[in-house]
Amino acid sequence: MIEEILPNLYKIEVPLPQSPLQAINSYVIKAQGQSLIIDTGQNREECMSVMSSGLKELDVDLKRADFFITHLHADHLGLVSTLATDTSTVYFNQADAAIINSVGHWEEVSNFARINGFPGDELQRAIKNHPGRKYSIRGHVDFHISKEGDTISIGDYLFKCIETPGHTKGHICLYEPSKKLFISGDHVLNDITPNISLWSDKENPLSEYLESLDKVYNFEVELVLPGHRGTFKNFKERIQELKHHHQTRVNEVISILEKGSQDAFKVASQMTWDVTYEFWELFPSAQKWFAFGEAVAHLKYLEEKGKIQREMRGRKVVFSLK
Ligand SMILES: [Zn+2]
Repeated sequence: MIEEILPNLYKIEVPLPQSPLQAINSYVIKAQGQSLIIDTGQNREECMSVMSSGLKELDVDLKRADFFITHLHADHLGLVSTLATDTSTVYFNQADAAIINSVGHWEEVSNFARINGFPGDELQRAIKNHPGRKYSIRGHVDFHISKEGDTISIGDYLFKCIETPGHTKGHICLYEPSKKLFISGDHVLNDITPNISLWSDKENPLSEYLESLDKVYNFEVELVLPGHRGTFKNFKERIQELKHHHQTRVNEVISILEKGSQDAFKVASQMTWDVTYEFWELFPSAQKWFAFGEAVAHLKYLEEKGKIQREMRGRKVVFSLK
């Protein structure tokens, strides 16, 4: 479960039961003073036991450990409320912290899903079982807010915070220029495609995501440490592939709308998804949920580009080609 990647830099693979993501990578940098733990796992026993035995094996004392959390998703943030001690600094970003601390977030999200066609009964199931609800932090965590250009010095490493909105509004990557090392969170993954989802009309995450890919494209990077699956070296090539992937998805959404105007849930049901279920009807609610979020993100992107338009039909939003 533990792999030494560079001197004093280790990866702990923390399992995510029932998740198609399989596991999340927590990176641990050991130093004389405070050590740094980057992303933590979900707030559940299966993650906690692997993290605590991993940290023990690495001889990291939680009283002398700080945390950096790339973004708000429970697999990255959730366990920090259990692991952090009163001598820990928890670096996190403002936009994601605002969502975590907001009251009524889930209600807003479910209203948004409903008017975009997500069926009521499944909606309740999806929200009830949502890992972001079940396995997020418990209680209050005092975040130290990080922003673009901030640096975190730890042993031989000097990391720069790079804001990369898209996967979430406040997502931050860490870049170590002298070592050409990029800790990418869920911004750039190699074996799977980061989920880009929209849960509010006020945003356009796909547009932000594509900009954030361009933003880091020219960074000198020899090794990428992603939030999920294996480390990789082909940074530029992978960014091009991800951009191409979303262009293909955008084209797919257009061809679905050529059949006539429809709501986002219906569009999602006709897109191709890399899952083991043969039909949309067989998707578990959670999978439909993520697929739906991704479909809306692509619809919003096309709308802002002026390619499609929306109208209210009864209490639902439907989209059509312009
Ligand atoms: Zn994520």
